[in-house]
Amino acid sequence: MTDKLTVSVLGTGIMGAAMARNLARAGHSVRAWNRSRAKAEPLAADGAHVSDTPAEAVRGADVVLTMLYDGAAALEVIRQASPGLRPGAAWVQSTTAGLDAVGELAGFADEHGLVFFDAPVLGTRQPAEAGQLLVLAAGPSQSRDAVLPVFDAVGSRTVWTGEDGAAGSATRLKLVANSWVIAATNATGEVLALAKALGVDPQSFFDAIAGGPLDMGYLRAKAGLILDDRLTPAAFAVGTAVKDARLIVEAGRQHGIRLDVAAAGAERLARAAAQGHADEDMAAAYFASFDEETGTDT
Ligand code: NAP
Repeated sequence: MTDKLTVSVLGTGIMGAAMARNLARAGHSVRAWNRSRAKAEPLAADGAHVSDTPAEAVRGADVVLTMLYDGAAALEVIRQASPGLRPGAAWVQSTTAGLDAVGELAGFADEHGLVFFDAPVLGTRQPAEAGQLLVLAAGPSQSRDAVLPVFDAVGSRTVWTGEDGAAGSATRLKLVANSWVIAATNATGEVLALAKALGVDPQSFFDAIAGGPLDMGYLRAKAGLILDDRLTPAAFAVGTAVKDARLIVEAGRQHGIRLDVAAAGAERLARAAAQGHADEDMAAAYFASFDEETGTDT
């Protein structure tokens, strides 16, 4: 028995490409597919086979990993893959999907005899490239050995949240974590916009909070992207953050709570996307504070 697997990666965007590369480097046989083939092609240099269709990519796979935009895209792509799916294969579903979508995806897995793992990840482009993601995972204990080599290749740690992927316990934790990430990012943009409007040097704010409980590495990192005009390539794009912010608001609504900050944050990100910043890092929500494009002469 070997722990080298055949792994299909469906979706090789920012995260999926990095995960596929680390899987190939760990010695697994990787079959990559992406809707826009050009984004998958560089993976051939790492030894991955670039497939023309999802069905071709999943044929004979031990593990299918999906890393697509949202739950609807994941469902669309796994349906396209169905002629090649092997009953008994594991499906590691890492797309950040809503709670309803996780149920639908798990239902598809059930119908096709796949072992479903709800497995979103924490961490962005750089940790993905370094194989240092935090994998949040729910799935049956008796099948975990089949996917652990995959989690080990893409992440530094796996947190198991439950036995039943369909219940979405990993996605619940992911949404909670992302509500914090998105709120902190939007707060960072507003701090810089307010400082600019009031004629306050942002550095004097950083100096004021340095080393105290208000200081925060994430604030510094996201502010740096805005101040130094390093918003591309995105680590986590505005257009993807809008999707997550809406999933968070909807999850709260379905569970009987109001999330005012998340709702306003979603609108703010959507406005930045409409201004032309959809593909930039989500820190570009900063621009939503200004009626017209102000450039980055902060
Ligand atoms: P990304 O670079 O925009 O990649 C999105 C992928 O989804 C692309 O491969 C895109 O294909 C594909 N796609 C979108 N709609 C599709 C459809 N209808 N059919 C087929 N393929 C479709 O985004 P990402 O940052 O890698 O994010 C991927 C997932 O990971 C998202 O759920 C995101 O929330 C989650 N995530 C992201 C981060 C992060 O920091 N970036 C961190 C944790 C989790 P094309 O290339 O053809 O457009």
